[in-house]
Amino acid sequence: MLLGEVAPIPLAAFLYLGSGIGLLGVKLFQRINQQGLDSEAQIKKPDYLWLAGAIIAGGIAAPITLLFSLQNTPAATSSLLLSFEGVSTTLIAFFAFKESIGRRAWRAIVLITLASVFLSVNPNAEWGFSLGALGIIAACILWGIDNNLTRNISAKDPITIVTIKGLGAGSFSLGMAMILGNKLPAWEVVLGALILGSLSYGASIVLFIHAMRGIGAARTSALFSSAPLAGMTLSFLLFRELPSWMFLIAFPLMVAGTLFLVSEEHEHDHVHEMTIHEHAHIHDDGHHEHDHEDERAKKHCHIHKHDELIHTHHHMPDLYHRHVHPSGS
Ligand SMILES: [Zn+2]
Ligand SMILES: [Zn+2]
Ligand SMILES: [Zn+2]
Ligand SMILES: [Zn+2]
Ligand SMILES: [Zn+2]
Ligand SMILES: [Zn+2]
Repeated sequence: MLLGEVAPIPLAAFLYLGSGIGLLGVKLFQRINQQGLDSEAQIKKPDYLWLAGAIIAGGIAAPITLLFSLQNTPAATSSLLLSFEGVSTTLIAFFAFKESIGRRAWRAIVLITLASVFLSVNPNAEWGFSLGALGIIAACILWGIDNNLTRNISAKDPITIVTIKGLGAGSFSLGMAMILGNKLPAWEVVLGALILGSLSYGASIVLFIHAMRGIGAARTSALFSSAPLAGMTLSFLLFRELPSWMFLIAFPLMVAGTLFLVSEEHEHDHVHEMTIHEHAHIHDDGHHEHDHEDERAKKHCHIHKHDELIHTHHHMPDLYHRHVHPSGS
């Protein structure tokens, strides 16, 4: 498959569409088999507002901004700047959505960001800071908004969220490609992009949403930005290539950052207010002690009530712990 000859917008369109179609297939399969349908909460009216915002920011505005910016930015500069998606996600989570980020988490995020900066630097390439560079930063900010808006609905069925996102952003990009008069790729390339989109792209966003549900947007984007490094390490081991010195600097930074993230201690008295909501839960997470007529050990989903609860335990900014902290804790 010669991806180098395919215009970027139609390619992106088919990747997005592939992720949507693939997950739509998963949904249909669940429906036919009557399986897994009641294990996740479905999207309701107020969620569509967050979802629409996420699609407009991350699926429409960001790709357009990026497209026009890439044209007049050296490749080395742009690959470096693209690693700022994690930074913008963190800053938006912290300042706009008051997500709790303790000292250890800040250190982790700084180290991981530094590592991805080193990984994306190509010292032999042509450099330049231009209007295009600012545009790439703007695209990263738009993706940061997308991630945070999606976090707000991460309690809902991730498969449905990604299906709607993929189909929405995909048909938009396809429309844009038509308007710009881009030539559509050969059908083999289209098929390949659809399959790749459904296998890798869709699945990784579903994973991303599951992670945001558990540890919030800032830590999730830090963890996910260490993925390329894991891939590189694997390829060095498999193909016995010699890593570059940039990699040798980035690797310990990334490992230290990840260790900070997993060793995070955050424990204090906190209040859970009385709520009635619907989401997937299990009954031994310390927060769901309601009774069922039948014993349910597995993850399940239904509307339930939480009484007010004050307790102390180690927690992450997950679904139940989005309380505001005095700064620095
Ligand atoms: Zn807390
Ligand atoms: Zn609950
Ligand atoms: Zn239950
Ligand atoms: Zn708790
Ligand atoms: Zn229940
Ligand atoms: Zn709690």
